[in-house]
Amino acid sequence: MSRNDLYDVIVIGGGPAGLTAGLYLARARYRVLILEKDDFGGQITITNEVVNYPGVGRTTGRALTQTMRQQAQDFGAEFLSAEAIGLDVHGDVKTVHTSRGDLKAFGILIATGASPRKLGFEGESEYAGRGVAYCATCDGFFFRNKPIVVVGGGDSAFEEALFLTRFGSSVTLIHRRDSFRASQIMVDRAKANPTITLMTNTVVTSITGTSSPTQNTGAPIAIPGLTLKRPAVAPASVSSIAVRNVVTGEESTLDTNAVFVAIGHTPATDFAAGVVDRDDDGYVVVQGASTVTSAPGIFAAGDCVDRTYRQAISAAGMGCRAALDTQAYLTD
Ligand code: NAP
Repeated sequence: MSRNDLYDVIVIGGGPAGLTAGLYLARARYRVLILEKDDFGGQITITNEVVNYPGVGRTTGRALTQTMRQQAQDFGAEFLSAEAIGLDVHGDVKTVHTSRGDLKAFGILIATGASPRKLGFEGESEYAGRGVAYCATCDGFFFRNKPIVVVGGGDSAFEEALFLTRFGSSVTLIHRRDSFRASQIMVDRAKANPTITLMTNTVVTSITGTSSPTQNTGAPIAIPGLTLKRPAVAPASVSSIAVRNVVTGEESTLDTNAVFVAIGHTPATDFAAGVVDRDDDGYVVVQGASTVTSAPGIFAAGDCVDRTYRQAISAAGMGCRAALDTQAYLTD
């Protein structure tokens, strides 16, 4: 094996956690390769307006992560669009099996994130980031004094609904059954809150909104070594949703400017099954407050570990910690 084939660290995942880890490791003069399956940037790239990333002011999710990528690249990080499909971590030199062949490194950092589960109603993907949202902490602020809908019946949906009462003129929680998976205390709190209406036995079937062709040219975004496509048509905002009562079959329309989908997340960690310990939902288990996994030389950071905070800034912070943990391992 030549030096060209061997990295100090392979970072799997190019969202805020992976890009921050790559930036730190490259700046410490390690040879780092950052892998990304699709677009670099991760979940935050669907957010049109980011106003809570300290030190940045107002930006878009894509612009924020483009800057992170450029910073990492300027320090010498290398990038490859490939999907990690398995790991072999025996011995000092580890192997990442990818859709583009095997890659080798002394350390591996898993930062593959978690995807919010989608409902699949008509218009969900077209309006994502423009009225369809998956994180109240990130996007609730944009719907001040507007009617808001939350979909789901677990603790996340109730937590999001309660938080969104700080912003919305009304919050309607829509759930497909007539009983809730959420803990009773959360349900009781929601029932006691006059801003929240619970709509049970109901599913969202489609969304209606306004289109704003001027917001989007359809032109590709230029990043060295990478071309990202914009969607051809960009709807501007949500104005209403169509819902169906699953018991009576009755269909109706609900005026709303935001639909927060809160039906759980799926961490992208299947490629690491059997190699590092994961919990029952697939989140990578780390030791205490560190980023150390159950496999020596394998570290993990960001939303594939963290089911609680899920913020770009908290993922970036954990990416930094993972880089420092990896450095300590490599130094030893
Ligand atoms: P969850 O507990 O799995 O609940 C998911 C909810 O989404 C369920 O009500 C489910 O409905 C609904 N759902 C799933 N697929 C759907 C679909 N295709 N269409 C419509 N509805 C759908 O997920 P979570 O709420 O994200 O919570 C995950 C874990 O974190 C849980 O253990 C939870 O207790 C914990 N958590 C705790 C807190 C807290 O303690 N403060 C806060 C957030 C999360 P059904 O019930 O009909 O299946």
